[in-house]
Amino acid sequence: MTHAPVRDVVIVGGGTAGWMTAAYLTAAFGDRINVTLVESADVGTIGVGEATFSDIRHFFEFLGLAERDWMPACNATYKLAVRFEDWREPGHHFYHPFEQLRSVKGFPLTDWWLRYPTSDRFDVDCFVMASLIDGNRSPRYLDNRLLEQDFVEGEAAPNTIAEYQGAQFPYAYHFEAHLLAKYLTKYATQRGVRHVVDNVVDVGLDERGWLSHVQTAEHGRLEGDLFVDCTGFRGLLLNKALEEPFVSYQDTLPNDSAVALQVPMDMDKDPIRPCTTATAQDAGWIWTIPLISRIGTGYVYARDYMDPEEAERTLRAFVGPAAADVPANHIRMRIGRSRRSWVNNCVAIGLSSGFVEPLESTGIFFIHYAIEQLVKYYPAGDWDLTLREQYNNALMNVMDGVREFLVLHYRGAKRADNQYWRDTKTRAIPDALAERLELWESKVPDTGTVYPRYHGLPPYSYNCILLGTGGIPVRPSPALDLIDEKAALAEFQAIKDKARSLVRTLPTQNAYFKRMRDGV
Ligand code: FAD
Repeated sequence: MTHAPVRDVVIVGGGTAGWMTAAYLTAAFGDRINVTLVESADVGTIGVGEATFSDIRHFFEFLGLAERDWMPACNATYKLAVRFEDWREPGHHFYHPFEQLRSVKGFPLTDWWLRYPTSDRFDVDCFVMASLIDGNRSPRYLDNRLLEQDFVEGEAAPNTIAEYQGAQFPYAYHFEAHLLAKYLTKYATQRGVRHVVDNVVDVGLDERGWLSHVQTAEHGRLEGDLFVDCTGFRGLLLNKALEEPFVSYQDTLPNDSAVALQVPMDMDKDPIRPCTTATAQDAGWIWTIPLISRIGTGYVYARDYMDPEEAERTLRAFVGPAAADVPANHIRMRIGRSRRSWVNNCVAIGLSSGFVEPLESTGIFFIHYAIEQLVKYYPAGDWDLTLREQYNNALMNVMDGVREFLVLHYRGAKRADNQYWRDTKTRAIPDALAERLELWESKVPDTGTVYPRYHGLPPYSYNCILLGTGGIPVRPSPALDLIDEKAALAEFQAIKDKARSLVRTLPTQNAYFKRMRDGV
């Protein structure tokens, strides 16, 4: 037993989770630890064209990577929001942007908007971003300057998520996850990570039931102190070898399948929309993620309501002729989380740890958050149980919190035009969320009434979903009738002016990325 940190780390799995972990650990600890990553050439990765959270920039900053270094290699674009289409009713859309709500006289602007609606679009009236997205704008000027941030709290750029809570950076990224894994393979192996391409065929346990090694088909045993399970939905080390149970969320989030297509696009002709789009469908929703040379799209659906053939037909019809020759990728999703993500000397990161459906792009956020927590609670040879417990609580909280937020989208959606959508109104929801919904009918969500532990989603996000989906009545605070509204109306006007000026001066995404691609 020693208080010296453990040194030998074996990562099993080379998807986004495996390589993000390997790269981050080398950036954090350099050659003070030894990292081996083993990945199978036979078992594929999940990589469908991913959208992210704005916090992901801290990951790249931590690795010392500038956007120009990695974005072109990963076909990456900017994401300013999620655009929800048809969740309220056909033809309706709203944005959930990366932009904090302003407040006036102690009340969030959404509250003021409910009392004094200046149009029928709360997102356009309360956020600058909505207009930028409608104009396909880049959040950066051609000389790389970030748009003026008077409407975004906190300009400092600390390099972990935790240090950055309460502030909101104005954009995230879309990128091809498998290209990011490839990019990070180079980054990590150049910094000393040992890369083994082989199948893990067995997992060795010692007499205490801790992992002692993984057995590969051709490279013998790989021994280590700490094992990181990045084997995706298989959960080869944590769920299979250590038999850690999986806590399903399917009772509240029934979408368990997806079918994905990669549709070619021509950035010289097609506008690159700076947002992820989630379009509601008969048994779920379709994502549209614009990348530099293609669109990543897919239908997330519940098999209880639709079979895979119909889902694929629907998706192909949605995309149109561009999808005609593109093969479809059908994916079965395991929705929920491992009861504990860290058991003994095994930490699961990525899909093996947990996954909610991709509606708010939280998969890579969970990975990034998990890696930061692993560094924070990194173990010593005495394997202090308290560190593991704190890690497990942090991961449990973040996933359970996001689950609540996602359930709100379905419960809040006004549409109830078929059995799938009617069931979203009567299906059981987490008890705490049911209580919160009652509170929100009287007062829009604030820090005191949203899920109380860190889960990456500030109160303004809840405001956006409640007002946007439109199925749950919300009303303004009575106090607003007693307060002069001039300052709030002036704020609405300031947003309009600011949006107009930014749309006029910022380049389109196409122009921005053409310049980046040309290396200017
Ligand atoms: P995987 O990609 O499945 O990788 C598993 C790795 O384990 C592979 O390298 C495989 O070779 C290896 N492996 C397995 N078995 C063995 C073995 N026996 N021996 C050796 N190696 C083995 N996240 C977002 O943030 N935004 C999104 O928009 C988004 N959209 C998604 C859409 C869908 C439909 C799905 C399913 C997920 C989405 N995600 C999204 C989640 C995101 O894709 C994953 O979190 C991310 O790709 C990490 O996957 P992973 O590395 O955990 O697993």
